[in-house]
Amino acid sequence: MTVIDLAQVHAWLADFAAVVHENADLLTDLDRQIGDADHGANMDRGMQAVAALSADDFADAPALLKKAGMTLVSTVGGASGPLYGTFFLRLAAALPAEGADPVAFGLALRAGLDGVLARGKASVGDKTMVDALSPAVDAYEATVSDEAAEALEAAARAAAEGRDATIPLVARKGRASYLGDRSAGHQDPGATSVTMLVEAAARTLG
Ligand code: ADP
Ligand code: MG
Repeated sequence: MTVIDLAQVHAWLADFAAVVHENADLLTDLDRQIGDADHGANMDRGMQAVAALSADDFADAPALLKKAGMTLVSTVGGASGPLYGTFFLRLAAALPAEGADPVAFGLALRAGLDGVLARGKASVGDKTMVDALSPAVDAYEATVSDEAAEALEAAARAAAEGRDATIPLVARKGRASYLGDRSAGHQDPGATSVTMLVEAAARTLG
């Protein structure tokens, strides 16, 4: 049985930080189309601060994730900082300190998503990060077994499909909604970064 613990969560955050750094220009370009061209810079600043956290300074995975969430709230700014911060804080609160089995990890992912929904009030189809995160959590729950790998891979595929499905949508939440119909034809930046987060989980937590 997979057990997701401090070392794995630290590797997940480091992997995501590296991918965000490599793709900061892409995320900012997507945000230039339908926003204010800061999503890549925002996420890169926040995740570099998270990547600087040492696993040695934390007793367990929830403690690291709590600090990561607070770091994102205080360094990312914009809409996405509080939303990513809430996701990690809820994940931290739901994870057992002794390490999570795959089912417990799924419950924590669901709690993280619920936090994002409560904070941002977006639904699937509003062209936000929820369009990638919500199907990812559904796919994880539908696939989970004693091992996390298969469920994480299903979650990553579902996130990517949800991200791609944002392209034709008209934004109904966040800055992109100010554009009205002109937001259609562009991929949502937050759904793009969330897909990177779930893909990083599939590489590191399985
Ligand atoms: P800002 O829009 O403040 O500049 P960012 O550019 O960092 O913040 O993040 C933009 C992303 O935040 C969007 O692409 C979208 O995915 C996400 N987002 C914005 N508002 C919401 C919301 N209410 N609920 C969920 N996600 C949202
Ligand atoms: Mg922006």
